[in-house]
Amino acid sequence: MNIQSFALDLHEPLATAAGDIARREGFLVTLDEDDGCRGVGEACPLPGWTESYDECRDALADAVPADLDTLPPAARHGVALALLDADAREDGVPLYRHLGRDERVETVPVNATVGDAPPEPTRERVADAVREGYTCVKLKAANRPLAADVERVAAAREVAPDIEIRLDANGGWTRDTATRAFETLATFDVSYVEQPLPASDLGGFAALPNTGVGIALDEGLYEHGIDAVLDSEITHLVLKPMALGGPDIALELAGLARGAGIEPVVTTTIDGPIARAAAVHVAAAIPAVSACGLATGSLLATGEMPDPAPVTGGVAAVPQKDGNTPAVLPADYA
Ligand SMILES: [Mg+2]
Repeated sequence: MNIQSFALDLHEPLATAAGDIARREGFLVTLDEDDGCRGVGEACPLPGWTESYDECRDALADAVPADLDTLPPAARHGVALALLDADAREDGVPLYRHLGRDERVETVPVNATVGDAPPEPTRERVADAVREGYTCVKLKAANRPLAADVERVAAAREVAPDIEIRLDANGGWTRDTATRAFETLATFDVSYVEQPLPASDLGGFAALPNTGVGIALDEGLYEHGIDAVLDSEITHLVLKPMALGGPDIALELAGLARGAGIEPVVTTTIDGPIARAAAVHVAAAIPAVSACGLATGSLLATGEMPDPAPVTGGVAAVPQKDGNTPAVLPADYA
């Protein structure tokens, strides 16, 4: 197994709940199986969601594929993806087919990330998203007083009467504020709010009014585990393969969610192109998946490397060559 570090700058620093991100650093994991098939995986740790960079590096230095499940999440993702990639190449199928989807899938729907901005720029960004063909936008919420967030949502709805609007509060509301939010947001046909309550407050979802606005769980999954989450009052479950420990685990949880009547949504943690492509394959392996948070590739400066899953018209193209990505090797960004 060969481990190679990489670093990719973002075109512009991205404000996230875990702080500003300007650069993503991680490891490419390459392994050559006895049958001659090569697999490439990516471990791109993001503290707050996964182990630290140093922990990931140390775990990979000692890793053996047979002990996959002892690795921390980003390291496990790197090794698991390398194994899956090699196996899919051996089967002669793209990764999503190897993951179990039995028909060709050309594209998966993705949401436009509108982020947090005052009403006017929000209106402009949502109008751009509509022009670009997106059918779903995601706004950050809870960084401002509720009334200010409502003005932003109203601006988005005014310029895009038919688009699906989602919010992500990143755990920023109290039960009281979330209750008021759900009552008001229903007026603007918001489809769901991601993590309206702090990650610790899984029971609080049952106290929110049923106004037709759904509840998506993101951060809380890592605090409570899948069993408790499937029993909670949520409508959607956000799955980040890097934070969960691999594409295989993300897909397994997607199946469990569906079985419990909860819709899975696949997103990245602003991963590099190899891991983002794998997340697109995971989404493609889920029949009729709803819009996913996978339009993150254009945030990263990847030099000459072509985007393996480019987004146009509100959908990401699913790579159709054998394995995860076409056999692009990372010389361009290593
Ligand atoms: Mg989120």
